Amino acid sequence: MTENKPYRVLLYYHYVTLENFAEFANEHREFCNELGLKGRILVASEGINGTVSGTIEQTDQYMKAMKEDPRFSDMVFKIDEADGHAFKKMKVRARPELVTLRLEDDINPHEVTGKYLDPKEFFEQMQDEDTVVLDARNTYEYDLGHFRGAIRPDVENFRDLPQWVRENKEILEGKKILTYCTGGIRCEKFSGWLLKEGFEDVSQLHGGIATYGKDPEVQGELWDGQMYVFDERIAVPINKKEHVIVGRDYFSGEPCERYINCANPFCNKKILSTEENEHKHLRSCSHECRVHPANRYVIEHGLTEEQVAERLSKIGESATV
Ligand SMILES: [Zn+2]
Repeated sequence: MTENKPYRVLLYYHYVTLENFAEFANEHREFCNELGLKGRILVASEGINGTVSGTIEQTDQYMKAMKEDPRFSDMVFKIDEADGHAFKKMKVRARPELVTLRLEDDINPHEVTGKYLDPKEFFEQMQDEDTVVLDARNTYEYDLGHFRGAIRPDVENFRDLPQWVRENKEILEGKKILTYCTGGIRCEKFSGWLLKEGFEDVSQLHGGIATYGKDPEVQGELWDGQMYVFDERIAVPINKKEHVIVGRDYFSGEPCERYINCANPFCNKKILSTEENEHKHLRSCSHECRVHPANRYVIEHGLTEEQVAERLSKIGESATV
């Protein structure tokens, strides 16, 4: 690391049984606030999952304290350098589960999980002929960037993934399955579920895409686009050797890596859009959303009815719903 930026973003998780996790969450929130960190942390009886940002000193103190706690002593931190905070607030929440697969019986990764592959192993095995690479994330994450040739499950929520697999079994049967996600936490459960479901050869990218992009040897090779992250950065580069843009503008189909949320607050859909098309389409995914009375774009820009009608006519729509 030669950039020496003043801030860092830490990404981490650890599956470990936490007694009194609600109480732990409250103490942990206080501790994070004292340090001056910002971010989002989930705490459950099955462990912890967080992304936080802070100065080098703040993040050092945090990692030191966590490593001194026997419950988290072997937790791995993925560290990104940053120019500033990646969050506006510090949120620590107690939840029933860290990640949810909507299963009859939840998966405990300590009991069943796929083989761990380090970046080099993943890089090599994904090129084997009898291998399928299965993205364990959501469509909007895939659409910004993914491993070359990876399967895109048509799900908008992680919990819908088992259902998708059951409906698309033939793609995976008899194959060596490699799964991956942002930091690895979802694959711990998902790969375990695949094994329980009867798939025999299941591996997961250990440490996720975040670790893959930092590996000095692999350097993110065979990753196309950028990695979607759940903080203000939204898009993070992974492939240090080449940058192939796979994101496509929702309206025009041109190459694009800029995410916006539909301005209809009841829709809020994530769409890739150039700035120009955002204005043209009132930052909305559909006609219905453009003419919605609560449209945030129209409110923010103080557009009159005439001005809205004018914009709509330019894209061949009329103001009536
Ligand atoms: Zn919409």
